Amino acid sequence: MQEHQLIDRYKRHLNYLRISITDRCNLRCMYCNPRLPRQKLLHKEVLRYEEILRIARLSVSFGINKIRITGGEPLARKGCCNFLEHLAAIDGLKDISLTTNGVLLKQHINRIASAGVKRLNISLDTLNPEKYQQITGHDVFKQVWEGIEIALQHGFNPIKLNVVVINGVNNDDLTQLAELSFKYPFHIRFIELMPIGKTTAPAIRPLLVAEIKKKIETLGDLIPIARGTNDGPAARYRFKDSMGEIGFISPVSNHFCKACNRLRLTADGHILTCLLSNISEDIKTPIRLGLLDNDLKSVFLNAVARKPFQHPEKLSPLAQPEQMVSIGG
Ligand code: SAM
Repeated sequence: MQEHQLIDRYKRHLNYLRISITDRCNLRCMYCNPRLPRQKLLHKEVLRYEEILRIARLSVSFGINKIRITGGEPLARKGCCNFLEHLAAIDGLKDISLTTNGVLLKQHINRIASAGVKRLNISLDTLNPEKYQQITGHDVFKQVWEGIEIALQHGFNPIKLNVVVINGVNNDDLTQLAELSFKYPFHIRFIELMPIGKTTAPAIRPLLVAEIKKKIETLGDLIPIARGTNDGPAARYRFKDSMGEIGFISPVSNHFCKACNRLRLTADGHILTCLLSNISEDIKTPIRLGLLDNDLKSVFLNAVARKPFQHPEKLSPLAQPEQMVSIGG
């Protein structure tokens, strides 16, 4: 087994890499990829699959054992399933997961499953088709829901439903979403809206976890679930006799930087050290210049050495020119 080499200045073991394979998306979510002008990457600026696979292999040899594929919309990039198959074949990689909006899930589910992806995160901010269209700009709720049901039939476990709480838009949909956990084994995760980049979400303060939790508790007592060693940042709960779980993610009210174990690889080939900081190392240029694995290792180690202890206390939209769609969430 490889020795773990990705330990930062604050003694955090970085074993989790989130890879964004595209900055394009087939939805226009108001808080992530709004219908506003945005500079998209040129084709030649985006890492090719073989480049991503090389970086992934290297990262696993230094101690990464968990990889999440995200975007933009990963399934909207041609060849994604083929890429997932190659990724899954990397020796030493214990866990591959995929974050998707679910629009293309139904047509790709067999290959995603056979590639060896076990865990899916699907974005779903409402169960109301009209509201879904209002939030995402597309009338595809039915398609997404079918995708979720088919994923369930294929035995993906867990299926996490990511709900971004948009004050003034989906406040009244939250309990209905939480109710799904009685009937289905879904993990419903309520996420505080981060003020990142441009947005067409209402310009009012975000609803924070304390308030969101109060709303959800009107359905019944939330029983805390003990944290597991591989848990992410969600505070986990369940209702008595429910099949699924409820999670709360509080990037705004209570950031979880102290336990951060993540690095990110952006679609344009930068190792990003923190979601909300632009401290990054360019790995695409050295790859395209033909540098050897040992030199690429230095790029990784430099990124690790520069990882900040935490993201800024106050998130300012102005300090974050990037949209989430370009970073990967
Ligand atoms: N297209 C995929 C999807 O919709 O899930 C993957 C990319 S998306 C950027 C990844 C995650 O980021 C989603 O779960 C989304 O809910 C979350 N996200 C995007 N913008 C956000 C924001 N401003 N605040 C909080 N979460 C956000």
